Amino acid sequence: THPSVSTAALLVAAASGGGLVAYADSAGENASSEPSQEAPRKKKVVVLGTGWAGTSFLKDLDCSKYEVKVISPRNYFAFTPLLPSVTCGTVEARSIVEPIRKMLEKKRKDVTFYEAECFKIDASKKAVHCRSAVGTNFDGNGDFMVDYDYLVVALGATVNTFNTPGVMENCYFLKEVEDAQKIRRNVIDCFEKASLPNISEEEKRKILHFVIIGGGPTGVEFAAEMHDFLVEDLVKLYPAIQDFVKITIIQSGEHILNMFDQRIATFAEIKFQRDGIEVNTGFRVVKVSDDLITMKSKSLGEVSVPYGMAVWSAGVGTRPVIMDFMQQIGQTNRRVLATNEWLRVHECDSIYAIGDCASITQRKIMDDISTVFKMADKDNSGTLTLKEINDVIEDICIRYPQVELYMKSMHMLDIRDLIKDAIGDSHKESMVVDIEEFKKALSHVDSQVKSVPATAQVAAQQGHYLAECFNKMDQCKEHPEGPLRMTGTGSGRHNFRPFRYKHLGQFAPLGGEQAAAELPGDWVSMGHSTQWLWYSVYASKQVSWRTRMLVVSDWTRRFIFGRDSSRI
Ligand code: FAD
Repeated sequence: THPSVSTAALLVAAASGGGLVAYADSAGENASSEPSQEAPRKKKVVVLGTGWAGTSFLKDLDCSKYEVKVISPRNYFAFTPLLPSVTCGTVEARSIVEPIRKMLEKKRKDVTFYEAECFKIDASKKAVHCRSAVGTNFDGNGDFMVDYDYLVVALGATVNTFNTPGVMENCYFLKEVEDAQKIRRNVIDCFEKASLPNISEEEKRKILHFVIIGGGPTGVEFAAEMHDFLVEDLVKLYPAIQDFVKITIIQSGEHILNMFDQRIATFAEIKFQRDGIEVNTGFRVVKVSDDLITMKSKSLGEVSVPYGMAVWSAGVGTRPVIMDFMQQIGQTNRRVLATNEWLRVHECDSIYAIGDCASITQRKIMDDISTVFKMADKDNSGTLTLKEINDVIEDICIRYPQVELYMKSMHMLDIRDLIKDAIGDSHKESMVVDIEEFKKALSHVDSQVKSVPATAQVAAQQGHYLAECFNKMDQCKEHPEGPLRMTGTGSGRHNFRPFRYKHLGQFAPLGGEQAAAELPGDWVSMGHSTQWLWYSVYASKQVSWRTRMLVVSDWTRRFIFGRDSSRI
């Protein structure tokens, strides 16, 4: 049941983690080339979005090589991991934003910025249609078109309400700086409202019930911030109503922070229980009216709770412009744009997608694995035993360690288990498996791979990687046989190593000067010292000395004077 050498080589060509890949997908080769009689001009690069992915790309791009245009409805970069701290005034909104023009100051003559929203990507005409975000021009029309040679789509994601009735109308969200500012104002409003005369105790309880829907890192951090704000500042300012305050987290899964190590989830749950934050796991919110949240659980059925303020942080969705573009290029029924490992959108010359609006799919790898398995089916029966399947994967991994490395880097370490799970009973080693069934299993594996979370870390690394590719594009064309170049087994060439994500760990601040962290090498750290690690990492990650100084001085101000509870 061994694959033939040539098929295995094909697989390795597809899966190599060490820059050996040789494919037709090129970061630049398939892009439009200029007619030879025209005077050489700089290629036009259009970047959509000034978030983590877009700014990381721009920061590292050698802009003198290109004519760069940047389009975004906000003229600043926002340090999103500190947004929950803005909701309660631990840091000020202006401390976590950096004007995009300031960030590009040194590259000013090579970069043009338009404060506008892209509403259509036209891949056939190589142009994007935009609408001014700052009013219209003299004709009363704020629409314009920008053409490109290369397009970098870094539009991020939007909130996802899963069409739950009433969420859009009644919940607050925490995605943008304005959202955090709105939350901050409303928290204070709730306290002032509950302090008014002629408000019954029952009403006070309702007004001061803060509900967070979604127990992921954002929801948990916001709950922790709220709790700190309450116990450190508001109890002193509103002593008469402090007993009516309640914070609740509603989480559909079994645990909060379920993308973290189980020890962190347990630590957070115990801490929150001690702090009096109610954590309702196993509940799915089905409706939000203006005064009631209705949720459902398997054991208790439907339950409704009155609330004063609800914050929805239960999922990310697709921006309309991305949805429209995916329909144009046949990527329907997806949440994000599918790219290859060089971050180029499948089937689209010259369009790259990075950050939350994109995900790398290894359809090619899966197809090749499927081919290898077909080769193993020597008698053409259309079936393999589970043991044969297992042997083939094992054999590939032993003979070609790159495949295993590749699987590891793509969070596919447990591919064998996943296949076994998907096929059925993993103990029946001699069970005969239909090739078609196996294909279903592969698509199951594929969907598992796609569910890697969208984070700032991934977005920033992708921006950096793509900028490096753009910077080397000319050099690779001039020296096509350079060290990073390798001709493959007939299917094409590629100038660049594929993108590899390097996980640097993740934090979850839990309030009360405590945090939890998952660090590389499966290290888990929790408690007060981790909070200090969090402070130092987040201070060092600031994009400029200006924001670094502002954030650190906000933290110091909060330590000395507490948070500002003015409603402005
Ligand atoms: P974004 O940063 O969202 O940027 C998208 C850009 O596109 C923005 O500039 C936007 O204005 C622009 N844009 C939108 N629509 C258009 C349009 N039509 N035309 C042109 N431009 C447009 N990740 C971590 O790794 N660690 C954390 O601790 C962490 N904490 C978070 C806390 C919160 C509250 C939130 C909301 C997110 C957090 N994340 C964290 C996730 C992280 O913020 C995202 O993964 C990251 O922002 C993705 O970067 P991006 O560039 O793809 O998108």
